[in-house]
Amino acid sequence: MSHNAESTAFRSALEVIRAVEPRVADAIGAELTDQRESLKLIASENYASPATLLAMGNWFSDKYAEGTVGRRFYAGCQNVDTVEALAAEHARELFGAAHAYVQPHSGIDANLVAFWAVLADRVESPALKKAQVRQVNDLTEADWFALRRELGNQRMLGMSLDAGGHLTHGFRPNISGKMFDQRSYGTDPATGLIDYDRVAEAAREFKPLILVGGYSAYPRKVNFRILREIADSVGATFMVDMAHFAGLVAGKVFTGDFDPVPHAHIVTTTTHKSLRGPRGGMVLCQPELADQVDRGCPMVLGGPLPHVMAAKAVALAEARRPDFADYAQRIVDNAQALADGLLRRGATLVTGGTDNHLVLIDVSGYGLTGRQAEQALLDSGIVTNRNSVPQDPNGAWYTSGIRIGTPALTTRGLGTAEMDQTAELIHTVLTQTTAGANADGTPSKAKYTLDADLADKVARQATDLLAPHPLYPAINLT
Ligand code: PLP
Repeated sequence: MSHNAESTAFRSALEVIRAVEPRVADAIGAELTDQRESLKLIASENYASPATLLAMGNWFSDKYAEGTVGRRFYAGCQNVDTVEALAAEHARELFGAAHAYVQPHSGIDANLVAFWAVLADRVESPALKKAQVRQVNDLTEADWFALRRELGNQRMLGMSLDAGGHLTHGFRPNISGKMFDQRSYGTDPATGLIDYDRVAEAAREFKPLILVGGYSAYPRKVNFRILREIADSVGATFMVDMAHFAGLVAGKVFTGDFDPVPHAHIVTTTTHKSLRGPRGGMVLCQPELADQVDRGCPMVLGGPLPHVMAAKAVALAEARRPDFADYAQRIVDNAQALADGLLRRGATLVTGGTDNHLVLIDVSGYGLTGRQAEQALLDSGIVTNRNSVPQDPNGAWYTSGIRIGTPALTTRGLGTAEMDQTAELIHTVLTQTTAGANADGTPSKAKYTLDADLADKVARQATDLLAPHPLYPAINLT
């Protein structure tokens, strides 16, 4: 395919949009400029391919397709069936999964689908059985009360938020924390690593219905074989949320005990982080859960987004190519180079390094909160996000950490030498930033000072680092 085709496609699309609402066309163009100019170290973001982006912008968006392939509540879904089946086939083949459900609109939605599937599969509820076999009209008020009582208040054991777990793993700001009686496992305070004996102990005491593995901010491999053994020992369903590291599983960087798919009963993911697809989610599961998972829409989800499923099919096809494995390995090589560069310059990293795509800097060693560090880096053209560290004294809002990740910069083609230079830029900003004070003289967790000239200089250096690696090099909108 010629480079020219990509430019023509996006330029033409913008021309058509501009004729209706020029401000939207302008914003889309400005977003490309911003993305091209920023040193993006947000661990959960990436750059999807032009083919993936284009697969989303079309008339598939107009089609309702509640239900699943071959079993729709709407007529005329033959083409949606084609793309949904294709995306599911690619997902099964890529991950070696028995079943794939590609409708979830996001990672949170995928987790909701999984929770429902496990509840419906595992909880003994005669009223639910009646409802499932479509005898809903025969259900009495007492049946409905029983159903709610039986499905509610089930137990979930997941990784604690400050150790790197996700809100949807049973924490209060998410419905999972309100539906489930949750307990969490943390990490060893001395090493920052998961202590599997402690997880086993917590499982024995708490006897969860669901044991959740997976994380948003844990920089190490997780042994899913051991977690499955723990789940089996207490009769729990083992669910893994691989939203962050799906690309490393797809690219066969995580294999054997570190690949969740053969070990978990059910695996959820996003498609837009290290997997580099469109924004969305997916569920992979063992055959016994497939029927419940396929009820995701309308049980939990709104109508499927056929245009996004088309883009998932394209991105998953890309991830099945041999060069994706090379990409996945480079993500990890880059993260390790970034970690080494920071450590050599004196930074403190949670767990002392990384085996995956992300690095968690404990910025308290620089005398800063995560919030101050995040803003100072942003002033200097470096986009990161603040994150709690284990047992964080500054809580989940101000935090004491900065999470950085390499999937996006690796897509642009930056390599390990540039990661070392990036470490230098980050270290320079963090050593030159000083925490500020409130009006009454007490230490502020948000205010900071950083010399504006220094911030500008670092921003220019960041731009220089990116210059040899243009984003979407084939696309020229002018
Ligand atoms: N699960 C994990 C582990 C995540 O890190 C995230 C997002 O950051 C999600 C789920 C939610 O994904 P989404 O934002 O697509 O709903």
